[in-house]
Amino acid sequence: MARDVLIIGSGMAGLTAYNMLTKAGLSCLMLEKARGVGGRMSHRRHDLGGYDHGTSFFKVTSPIFKKFLQTYVDQGILDLDGGVAVAKPAGNNLARAMAPKEADFLAQKQVASITEDAGRLQLKDTDGVTYEGTKLLITCPMPQAKTLLHNHWDQSWPDAGQVSYRPVVTIMATMVARGDELGLAKLMGAGNSTNLWEADKPGRQEGHRLVVHFDEDATMPWLQTDLKELAGIMSRRLADAGNQVLDLQAHRWLYAHTKTAMDGGMLAHRDLPIWVAGDGFGLNGVESAFLSAHAAASDMIKKR
Ligand SMILES: Cc1cc2nc3c(=O)[nH]c(=O)nc-3n(C[C@H](O)[C@H](O)[C@H](O)COP(=O)(O)OP(=O)(O)OC[C@H]3O[C@@H](n4cnc5c(N)ncnc54)[C@H](O)[C@@H]3O)c2cc1C
Repeated sequence: MARDVLIIGSGMAGLTAYNMLTKAGLSCLMLEKARGVGGRMSHRRHDLGGYDHGTSFFKVTSPIFKKFLQTYVDQGILDLDGGVAVAKPAGNNLARAMAPKEADFLAQKQVASITEDAGRLQLKDTDGVTYEGTKLLITCPMPQAKTLLHNHWDQSWPDAGQVSYRPVVTIMATMVARGDELGLAKLMGAGNSTNLWEADKPGRQEGHRLVVHFDEDATMPWLQTDLKELAGIMSRRLADAGNQVLDLQAHRWLYAHTKTAMDGGMLAHRDLPIWVAGDGFGLNGVESAFLSAHAAASDMIKKR
């Protein structure tokens, strides 16, 4: 069944747009290549308690974002204190609360191509299955959006090519630790990393689970390393210093944080019913993704 809107991606941008568009009466189908919703607001489940291996804390500076989040604060899903928000009891819980209804969401569907015929859009996933819609919203990081749009990339979007992202290596470790998180991150060679004990965040399960997000310089040497090998190296570094490592996993984000952003809130195609939104339109991570999707969805509703 063709939908009014097809949405690629279920991070903050896709979820925001879905909520606004369906509220306005448009039928939507969201396609997500991962196993569940959240995008970079993600959480890795584990018997020992789990790790926020994407974002956990995020800034809330704009009144419109604050107003939108109030529902989730009232429901006890989100802590919002001094302009900083954290989802409970895991970093992906806000995304889960915003998730589309089952019939409107398809996980593990990676969109591979976009075609257009007489104003009708057709997406094809990597298994060759097709999906039809009248409008399309793309919310993956800009380089991926550009690759997907391929022949349909609008040449009137020159600034979009300048959007860039910082890669991040994330180490998730449960251990009986000697020393504090700064010392542990230093042992790993994590540069000026962000180091967070999971149990120090609101609503988390107890346990000594540390998440270390390497800064860009410290990430670069590991960009090509096999993740199991990387986990082994980090595990040995910690163990050699007397820490008892119970679990250690590594993850690599190629597009973690926006480094160079684009002004303008979102992109709307000149000739086709295609919009692009996401955190590439600001330097405030989750909030930028929200504001961008808000702008795109408002435009789509206006042009319905
Ligand atoms: C380690 C880390 C720490 C961070 N820390 C912070 C922080 O402290 N504060 C903050 O504000 N922000 C932080 N961020 C950034 C923040 O998570 C992002 O800015 C925000 O979540 C981006 O949302 P989005 O919807 O634009 O993109 P995403 O969350 O990336 O969503 C895009 C979705 O599209 C899907 N997708 C991509 N291609 C396809 C395809 N072809 N077919 C189907 N689906 C596809 C992806 O799987 C993904 O789910 C952090 C990010 C990382 C990785």
